[in-house]
Amino acid sequence: MIVDLERKKEKLIKNLIRYGYLKSPEVIEAIKKVPREIFVPSNMKQHAYDDTPLEIGYGQTISAPHMVAIMLEALKIKEDSKVLEIGTGTGYHAALAATIAKKGTVYTIERIKELAEKAKENFKKLGIKNVKVIVGDGSLGLPDFAPYTHIYATCSAPSIPDELIQQLAKGGRLLIPVGRVYGELWLVEKNDKIKKRNLGGCAFVPMIGRRGYNED
Ligand code: SAM
Repeated sequence: MIVDLERKKEKLIKNLIRYGYLKSPEVIEAIKKVPREIFVPSNMKQHAYDDTPLEIGYGQTISAPHMVAIMLEALKIKEDSKVLEIGTGTGYHAALAATIAKKGTVYTIERIKELAEKAKENFKKLGIKNVKVIVGDGSLGLPDFAPYTHIYATCSAPSIPDELIQQLAKGGRLLIPVGRVYGELWLVEKNDKIKKRNLGGCAFVPMIGRRGYNED
Protein backbone atom coordinates (compact mmCIF):
# COMPACT_ATOMS: atom_id res chain seq x y z
CA MET A 1 0.00 0.00 0.00
CA ILE A 2 2.76 2.47 1.03
CA VAL A 3 4.93 1.51 -1.96
CA ASP A 4 1.91 1.87 -4.24
CA LEU A 5 1.12 5.35 -2.85
CA GLU A 6 4.76 6.41 -3.26
CA ARG A 7 4.66 5.28 -6.90
CA LYS A 8 1.36 7.12 -7.48
CA LYS A 9 2.78 10.25 -5.85
CA GLU A 10 5.89 10.19 -8.07
CA LYS A 11 3.72 9.75 -11.17
CA LEU A 12 1.39 12.59 -10.16
CA ILE A 13 4.32 14.97 -9.56
CA LYS A 14 5.91 13.99 -12.88
CA ASN A 15 2.64 14.74 -14.70
CA LEU A 16 2.07 18.04 -12.88
CA ILE A 17 5.56 19.10 -13.96
CA ARG A 18 5.16 17.80 -17.52
CA TYR A 19 1.87 19.68 -18.07
CA GLY A 20 3.21 22.90 -16.59
CA TYR A 21 1.26 23.06 -13.32
CA LEU A 22 4.35 22.62 -11.14
CA LYS A 23 7.37 24.80 -11.93
CA SER A 24 9.29 26.17 -9.00
CA PRO A 25 11.65 24.06 -6.85
CA GLU A 26 10.05 25.30 -3.58
CA VAL A 27 6.54 24.17 -4.57
CA ILE A 28 7.80 20.85 -5.99
CA GLU A 29 9.77 20.18 -2.79
CA ALA A 30 6.73 20.95 -0.62
CA ILE A 31 4.45 18.63 -2.64
CA LYS A 32 7.09 15.88 -2.39
CA LYS A 33 7.43 16.39 1.35
CA VAL A 34 3.79 16.65 2.56
CA PRO A 35 1.88 13.34 2.50
CA ARG A 36 -1.62 14.03 1.07
CA GLU A 37 -2.76 10.61 2.36
CA ILE A 38 -2.61 11.92 5.94
CA PHE A 39 -5.22 14.56 5.08
CA VAL A 40 -7.77 12.57 3.08
CA PRO A 41 -10.45 10.48 4.85
CA SER A 42 -9.23 6.96 5.73
CA ASN A 43 -11.53 5.23 3.24
CA MET A 44 -10.02 7.27 0.38
CA LYS A 45 -6.31 6.94 1.04
CA GLN A 46 -5.81 4.86 -2.12
CA HIS A 47 -7.05 7.92 -4.07
CA ALA A 48 -4.74 10.39 -2.32
CA TYR A 49 -2.65 10.87 -5.48
CA ASP A 50 -5.48 10.90 -8.01
CA ASP A 51 -5.60 14.37 -9.55
CA THR A 52 -9.13 15.03 -8.36
CA PRO A 53 -10.97 16.72 -5.49
CA LEU A 54 -12.14 14.30 -2.76
CA GLU A 55 -15.04 14.60 -0.34
CA ILE A 56 -13.99 15.32 3.25
CA GLY A 57 -17.42 15.43 4.94
CA TYR A 58 -19.70 18.36 5.88
CA GLY A 59 -20.36 18.89 2.14
CA GLN A 60 -16.73 20.02 1.61
CA THR A 61 -13.80 18.82 -0.49
CA ILE A 62 -10.02 18.75 -0.58
CA SER A 63 -9.03 20.46 -3.84
CA ALA A 64 -7.44 18.56 -6.74
CA PRO A 65 -3.61 18.56 -6.65
CA HIS A 66 -3.31 20.45 -9.97
CA MET A 67 -5.45 23.31 -8.56
CA VAL A 68 -3.33 23.43 -5.40
CA ALA A 69 -0.24 23.55 -7.65
CA ILE A 70 -1.69 26.38 -9.79
CA MET A 71 -2.46 28.40 -6.65
CA LEU A 72 0.89 27.86 -4.94
CA GLU A 73 2.77 28.76 -8.13
CA ALA A 74 0.72 31.96 -8.57
CA LEU A 75 1.09 33.00 -4.92
CA LYS A 76 4.92 32.92 -4.90
CA ILE A 77 5.15 32.36 -1.13
CA LYS A 78 8.65 32.95 0.30
CA GLU A 79 10.53 31.43 3.26
CA ASP A 80 9.52 34.22 5.64
CA SER A 81 6.01 34.97 4.34
CA LYS A 82 3.03 35.67 6.56
CA VAL A 83 0.12 33.94 4.91
CA LEU A 84 -3.64 33.91 5.46
CA GLU A 85 -5.67 30.99 4.09
CA ILE A 86 -9.48 31.15 4.04
CA GLY A 87 -10.88 27.61 4.12
CA THR A 88 -8.65 25.22 6.08
CA GLY A 89 -10.59 22.07 5.12
CA THR A 90 -8.24 19.15 5.86
CA GLY A 91 -5.21 21.42 6.26
CA TYR A 92 -3.32 19.96 3.25
CA HIS A 93 -2.99 23.23 1.32
CA ALA A 94 -1.97 25.09 4.49
CA ALA A 95 0.62 22.40 5.25
CA LEU A 96 2.18 22.99 1.83
CA ALA A 97 2.13 26.78 2.30
CA ALA A 98 3.73 26.35 5.74
CA THR A 99 6.42 24.07 4.31
CA ILE A 100 7.35 26.78 1.78
CA ALA A 101 7.09 29.56 4.41
CA LYS A 102 9.31 27.60 6.77
CA LYS A 103 10.49 30.71 8.64
CA GLY A 104 7.09 32.40 8.42
CA THR A 105 3.55 31.71 9.63
CA VAL A 106 0.36 30.51 7.99
CA TYR A 107 -2.90 31.62 9.59
CA THR A 108 -5.78 29.53 8.36
CA ILE A 109 -9.44 30.20 9.11
CA GLU A 110 -12.23 27.63 8.79
CA ARG A 111 -15.95 28.10 9.53
CA ILE A 112 -16.62 24.41 10.34
CA LYS A 113 -15.21 23.68 13.80
CA GLU A 114 -14.94 19.91 13.28
CA LEU A 115 -12.78 20.38 10.15
CA ALA A 116 -10.56 22.89 11.96
CA GLU A 117 -10.03 20.41 14.83
CA LYS A 118 -9.14 17.57 12.45
CA ALA A 119 -6.73 19.83 10.54
CA LYS A 120 -5.00 20.71 13.83
CA GLU A 121 -4.54 16.98 14.51
CA ASN A 122 -3.05 16.54 11.03
CA PHE A 123 -0.50 19.36 11.59
CA LYS A 124 0.42 17.83 14.94
CA LYS A 125 0.90 14.37 13.39
CA LEU A 126 3.36 15.86 10.89
CA GLY A 127 5.12 18.14 13.38
CA ILE A 128 4.05 21.28 11.48
CA LYS A 129 4.25 24.10 14.01
CA ASN A 130 4.00 27.28 11.93
CA VAL A 131 0.26 27.04 11.17
CA LYS A 132 -2.31 28.75 13.39
CA VAL A 133 -5.87 27.50 12.97
CA ILE A 134 -8.77 29.85 13.70
CA VAL A 135 -12.49 29.01 13.63
CA GLY A 136 -14.59 31.79 12.11
CA ASP A 137 -15.87 33.59 9.05
CA GLY A 138 -12.86 34.22 6.82
CA SER A 139 -14.89 36.17 4.25
CA LEU A 140 -13.94 39.19 6.42
CA GLY A 141 -10.31 38.10 6.53
CA LEU A 142 -8.56 37.94 9.89
CA PRO A 143 -7.84 41.56 10.89
CA ASP A 144 -6.23 40.62 14.25
CA PHE A 145 -3.00 39.46 12.60
CA ALA A 146 -3.00 41.63 9.43
CA PRO A 147 -1.19 42.62 7.26
CA TYR A 148 -0.34 39.45 5.34
CA THR A 149 2.16 39.09 2.52
CA HIS A 150 -0.13 36.50 0.92
CA ILE A 151 -3.85 35.77 1.24
CA TYR A 152 -5.67 33.00 -0.56
CA ALA A 153 -9.15 31.53 -0.42
CA THR A 154 -9.95 27.90 -1.15
CA CYS A 155 -13.67 28.67 -1.42
CA SER A 156 -15.43 30.78 -4.00
CA ALA A 157 -16.78 34.27 -3.15
CA PRO A 158 -19.44 36.38 -4.92
CA SER A 159 -16.84 39.15 -5.37
CA ILE A 160 -13.40 40.06 -3.99
CA PRO A 161 -14.02 41.30 -0.42
CA ASP A 162 -12.49 44.77 0.20
CA GLU A 163 -11.46 43.58 3.67
CA LEU A 164 -9.02 41.11 2.11
CA ILE A 165 -7.36 43.78 -0.03
CA GLN A 166 -7.10 46.03 3.06
CA GLN A 167 -5.43 43.23 5.04
CA LEU A 168 -2.83 42.61 2.33
CA ALA A 169 0.65 44.09 2.89
CA LYS A 170 2.16 46.37 0.25
CA GLY A 171 3.77 44.13 -2.36
CA GLY A 172 1.39 41.34 -1.31
CA ARG A 173 -0.55 38.87 -3.43
CA LEU A 174 -4.15 37.74 -2.98
CA LEU A 175 -5.65 34.79 -4.80
CA ILE A 176 -9.40 34.15 -4.72
CA PRO A 177 -11.95 32.19 -6.73
CA VAL A 178 -14.98 34.31 -7.64
CA GLY A 179 -18.32 32.84 -8.74
CA ARG A 180 -20.89 30.35 -7.52
CA VAL A 181 -19.17 26.94 -7.81
CA TYR A 182 -17.89 27.54 -11.38
CA GLY A 183 -15.97 30.76 -11.36
CA GLU A 184 -12.70 32.44 -12.13
CA LEU A 185 -9.49 32.56 -10.15
CA TRP A 186 -8.42 36.18 -9.54
CA LEU A 187 -4.96 37.38 -8.57
CA VAL A 188 -4.73 40.77 -6.86
CA GLU A 189 -1.33 42.46 -6.56
CA LYS A 190 -1.12 45.34 -4.10
CA ASN A 191 1.51 47.95 -4.85
CA ASP A 192 0.97 51.72 -5.25
CA LYS A 193 -1.94 50.58 -7.37
CA ILE A 194 -4.16 47.52 -7.07
CA LYS A 195 -3.75 45.23 -10.09
CA LYS A 196 -6.33 42.47 -10.70
CA ARG A 197 -5.74 39.62 -13.13
CA ASN A 198 -8.09 36.80 -14.13
CA LEU A 199 -6.10 33.54 -14.13
CA GLY A 200 -8.92 31.49 -15.67
CA GLY A 201 -11.74 29.13 -14.84
CA CYS A 202 -11.99 27.07 -11.67
CA ALA A 203 -14.55 25.23 -9.52
CA PHE A 204 -14.66 25.57 -5.74
CA VAL A 205 -17.15 25.10 -2.91
CA PRO A 206 -18.83 28.41 -1.99
CA MET A 207 -17.49 30.83 0.59
CA ILE A 208 -20.27 31.11 3.17
CA GLY A 209 -20.29 34.26 5.28
CA ARG A 210 -20.78 38.02 5.57
CA ARG A 211 -18.90 38.75 2.31
CA GLY A 212 -19.69 35.30 0.96
CA TYR A 213 -22.87 33.49 -0.01
CA ASN A 214 -25.76 32.68 2.32
CA GLU A 215 -25.95 29.14 3.61
CA ASP A 216 -28.89 27.41 1.87
N1 SAM B 1 -7.71 23.97 1.59
C1 SAM B 1 -8.48 22.80 1.93
C2 SAM B 1 -7.65 21.55 1.98
O1 SAM B 1 -6.47 21.56 1.63
O2 SAM B 1 -8.22 20.54 2.41
C3 SAM B 1 -9.70 22.64 1.06
C4 SAM B 1 -10.72 23.60 1.41
S1 SAM B 1 -12.35 23.31 0.86
C5 SAM B 1 -12.19 23.31 -0.89
C6 SAM B 1 -13.04 24.93 1.25
C7 SAM B 1 -13.23 25.17 2.73
O3 SAM B 1 -13.66 26.53 2.89
C8 SAM B 1 -14.28 24.31 3.37
O4 SAM B 1 -13.71 23.58 4.42
C9 SAM B 1 -15.33 25.32 3.89
O5 SAM B 1 -15.92 24.96 5.09
C10 SAM B 1 -14.47 26.58 4.04
N2 SAM B 1 -15.21 27.85 4.05
C11 SAM B 1 -16.28 28.24 3.32
N3 SAM B 1 -16.63 29.50 3.63
C12 SAM B 1 -15.77 29.92 4.61
C13 SAM B 1 -15.62 31.13 5.34
N4 SAM B 1 -16.42 32.19 5.17
N5 SAM B 1 -14.62 31.20 6.25
C14 SAM B 1 -13.79 30.13 6.47
N6 SAM B 1 -13.90 28.96 5.80
C15 SAM B 1 -14.87 28.86 4.87
